Amino acid sequence: MDGRPAGRYPGAMRNHRASERSGERRPEPARRVERTGRTEPAIRPAPAGRAGRGGGPATALAWAAASILLLPACIAPGRRETRVEPPPRAPRPAAEATDAAARAPSRGGDAIVVAGRRVPIGTRVVLWTDPGGYDATSTAPRFGPVGPDGPQGLRYRPGRGGDPREVVDLFVVHYDVCGTSEKCFEVLHDRRGLSVHFLLDVDGTIYQTLDVAETAWHASEQNGRSVGVEVAHIGAYPPGAPSPLDTWYVRDAEGVRMRFPASYGDGGVRTPGFVPRPRRPEPVRGVVQGQRLEQYDFTVQQYDALARLAAGLSVALPRIELRVPLGPDGQVRDAALPADELSSFSGVVGHWHTSTAKTDPGPAFDWDRFLVRARASRAALAAPRP
Ligand SMILES: [Zn+2]
Repeated sequence: MDGRPAGRYPGAMRNHRASERSGERRPEPARRVERTGRTEPAIRPAPAGRAGRGGGPATALAWAAASILLLPACIAPGRRETRVEPPPRAPRPAAEATDAAARAPSRGGDAIVVAGRRVPIGTRVVLWTDPGGYDATSTAPRFGPVGPDGPQGLRYRPGRGGDPREVVDLFVVHYDVCGTSEKCFEVLHDRRGLSVHFLLDVDGTIYQTLDVAETAWHASEQNGRSVGVEVAHIGAYPPGAPSPLDTWYVRDAEGVRMRFPASYGDGGVRTPGFVPRPRRPEPVRGVVQGQRLEQYDFTVQQYDALARLAAGLSVALPRIELRVPLGPDGQVRDAALPADELSSFSGVVGHWHTSTAKTDPGPAFDWDRFLVRARASRAALAAPRP
């Protein structure tokens, strides 16, 4: 995802008019925002000694007021879609994928599911069929009733319109602007009627929500050819302005840690007692899509798990190469690719590479660290077993 708290940043609401469903446009009525506001955590004024930048009570209160309209939005922004996905082949029933997953061990714990086949990746994976998993194939809200204007029906398109090994050539990395996978699934599935194949929580736990042979709704025009992951992270913001960074990160004796809003409880994090910390203790500033942004890094657990996930995907879906878009200077491109370049690129991209309206996974995401680890993991997966 990629978003701004509505009402705080000009244009934020304009971007909440479309969805990531390719070729379809879902209106976002104002009352949806109000409902979201009621259920979002109240961001309290920043306490003394927080990790973030300076800012007195006035800015903290301004942020608290703005947060009433906080609307995690990676999935929301987007332009009206102009390219329509290939027509679905004969509906591949959700039950088919679900049955396939059911054949996989429900407590296997270290394998993703690709076209009904288990692919071990060597890190914790909770499948949609596992206890406590997140099931994107379900049409029922995961966290209770959402009211009559909640999304109805499937949150994804069955199948890929062809063999996934031939059709799927992009792995899209998002951050979720929710901060935890639990909250992300609530927003994505229950409130927006959207989907993504993987959620990656702060402790490195990977949740797979449906088979990658299904088309998830996370990247609009690129849905049909891509696999997506939402990495739990509160997001990137313009430096110097009030933002969730003011309260989401606090200093303690060991450095900087995340602090979830009280309404999150333990955030649904699976590792008992886990203390989530950004890999680097200071915020990282950088330019994405021409915007100066500030963001804390992801956790080391997230980098490690993401590398293993990408490695496993590249083995199972060989058109997903372990490379990222580079500019003439050899650096990772910091803006959306022109349409022709995007259509011919295969590999790993940030959401920002696919749309000028996106800035996730933000300037703190360390592409080199990710790639080095992903390639090492892939080499390990490919090595003959003793
Ligand atoms: Zn995104």
